[in-house]
Parts: sequence; C-alpha cells; structure tokens
Amino acid sequence: MHELMNSSLTEAEKLLIANELEKLFVLQDRPFSAKKSMAYLEEFERSNLPLGAIIAGIRSLIHVENISSLDFPRIASAARSKIERSEYETVKCDSCDGRGMLMLRDESKYEYAFKCQCANASKEAHHNLAQWNGESFQMRGTKRFSLANI
Ligand SMILES: [Zn+2]
Repeated sequence: MHELMNSSLTEAEKLLIANELEKLFVLQDRPFSAKKSMAYLEEFERSNLPLGAIIAGIRSLIHVENISSLDFPRIASAARSKIERSEYETVKCDSCDGRGMLMLRDESKYEYAFKCQCANASKEAHHNLAQWNGESFQMRGTKRFSLANI
C-alpha cells in the first residue's frame, strides 16, 4: 500500500470500483446511475488513490448510519483515511527496528538519517531522506558513511 502514485486504473479495476460504488449507493438508499459511476471513476483516476484504499474507503461507508452526504469528496476522504492508517502499520525489520530509518556516520562522526530498505520507510516523514543501500558502508557524493552502530 505504499505506491501512492499509482498509474491509471485498468478496466477490471474500474469495474470492481463501479460494483462497490453501486452497492454503496443502493445500500445507502441513494440514486445511482451509469453517468454518476463514470464521473466517479474519472475522479478516482485523477486522485491517484491506490485501488486497495478506494475499495476499503467505499466499503467503510456502506454501513454508516444516517450518512449526511454521499458524494465524491466524502468517499475520497474515506479512501484517504485508509492510506493514512496503513502508513502507521509497521513491519518487523532488524535494520531499523520498525522505525523506517537508521543512522549512518560520516568520517567526522556526524550522524545522518537514512531511509531503510523495508516497508516502514514508505512513511511520509521519510520521503526526503537519502536511501540506505543495505550495506555497512555507503558512498554519497564524495562522503563515506558507515552504520552508526558498528
Ligand atoms: Zn527497516
């Protein structure tokens, strides 16, 4: 779930989303038309939201009681909340202890944060960090870095 910039949706994926949307509108007792379905699919393509989050977002609204508004922004925000949640799930990693980043030292013993190679590093907060190469030593420009804990 860390491919936030997914490419456009396939026909099969669109069909899947359309089916989920229709179910949502029917169960929420709201009118749903082919035209509306097309418009929502276009919006979802433009949103770059990953398929898993879109489906999870739609499903999360199906049984909400007395839903005040059921429009694209409402559904998109439900989908976004599914991504945010996945951003905080951590996987076990011995290199970074689940933090998604680890420290390397330059020759002057200054410590720098690098992004781990595991899934924990997909968190938004780590996007600007340099990528760790998975080794004990790493060159970056003319600087040589080594793992801080060795
Ligand atoms: Zn890690």
